[in-house]
Amino acid sequence: MSMYNKKSIDDIEVKGRKVLVRCDFNVPLDGDVITDTKRITEALPTIKNLMDRGARVILCSHMGRPKGVFNMKYSLAPVAKKLSELLGREVPLAKDVIGEDAKALAATLGDGDVMLIENVRFHKEEEKNDPAFAKELASFAEIFVNDAFGTAHRAHASTAGVADYLPAVCGYLIQKEIRIMGGALSNPVRPFVAILGGAKVSDKIGVINNLLEKVDTLIIGGGMAYTFYKAKGYTIGTSICEDDKLDLARDLLEKAKAKGVNFLLPVDNVCSKEFSADSEPMLFPADGLADDVMGMDIGVKTREIFCDAVKNAKTVVWNGPMGVCEFANFAVGTETLAKAIADSDATSIVGGGDSAAAIEKFGLASKITHVSTGGGASLEFLEGLELPGIACLQDK
Ligand code: AMP
Repeated sequence: MSMYNKKSIDDIEVKGRKVLVRCDFNVPLDGDVITDTKRITEALPTIKNLMDRGARVILCSHMGRPKGVFNMKYSLAPVAKKLSELLGREVPLAKDVIGEDAKALAATLGDGDVMLIENVRFHKEEEKNDPAFAKELASFAEIFVNDAFGTAHRAHASTAGVADYLPAVCGYLIQKEIRIMGGALSNPVRPFVAILGGAKVSDKIGVINNLLEKVDTLIIGGGMAYTFYKAKGYTIGTSICEDDKLDLARDLLEKAKAKGVNFLLPVDNVCSKEFSADSEPMLFPADGLADDVMGMDIGVKTREIFCDAVKNAKTVVWNGPMGVCEFANFAVGTETLAKAIADSDATSIVGGGDSAAAIEKFGLASKITHVSTGGGASLEFLEGLELPGIACLQDK
């Protein structure tokens, strides 16, 4: 699929040219203090590379949900300040997005200079992917670089629309997502093991469907395992279950069988009487949950089986916790699996949201081949969907 084979900033000439770079500077703020600068530091390799090569760099991003109006609560001023610190030179912030101030500032840029325009979501046209707005934004530059993977599944003016008017390539963050996740999906080194968890089957139907076409082993843990249990006729006590997805769960089990995919569900479960942090953990076998308990984590035997599968894998994709990992008593399954993935020699890919947070929390990020940065975007990528912010880039 061509979505995995896109030009990057390495494939184009940038010297003396104005380059509009879409970043994901949607950082968490406490007042005007950035509480986690990761998204900014991760964007630096692309920005520095363009500056070093003499590009005239115009950065843009969204921040929060200002709902299409100028609201300085969502200004990128804290980002401009942090970027200035990290780059060791002032990064001027325009007072507007496509207005006079941004235009005036862009006109002053010399080779190797950098600036930031205000929050693109100050205009309602951004999320509507309005062509006139996209064209205006594009008129600032001669090249478009998308490096915001977290919004690549959205067709907005600054993530996709501008590519109608400018040659478009990816930055290093999107390049890495494509190379590693795209590589695993299109040409995995086998055995290929996928592990899916989290609360709901309904959120991950597309992912399960797509991965069943590609993996050797599919492991299901977390709350969604109980919908599969019920579909198989097991008792599930008071565990969460999506009763309207039982037929679908049966279809997926059938599909796995037809494809010869090894489909693993927990063989035992850590359960509790209540959904609370201090509820007493109790172990139950797969088909033996008491009526008054709910499954909260994968059991001891299950951890062994799942970790063995990981140990033997050459490619591992993981998305979603194995239990209620917010509660220490029920986080052991998730942590054990996270460690097994970190310790394996496989190409390991951890997709977004809670599992990425778990990897960070346990200090394992450096031992994972790739922790995908976008929650929704990485799920859609794993579903095999075309992401507008990537599809719009030039093919190699
Ligand atoms: P998701 O956003 O779909 O990846 O799901 C993450 C959420 O699933 C976390 O908040 C977990 O607490 C929750 N979760 C995982 N296992 C269970 C379970 N056995 N019962 C209820 N919630 C669960």
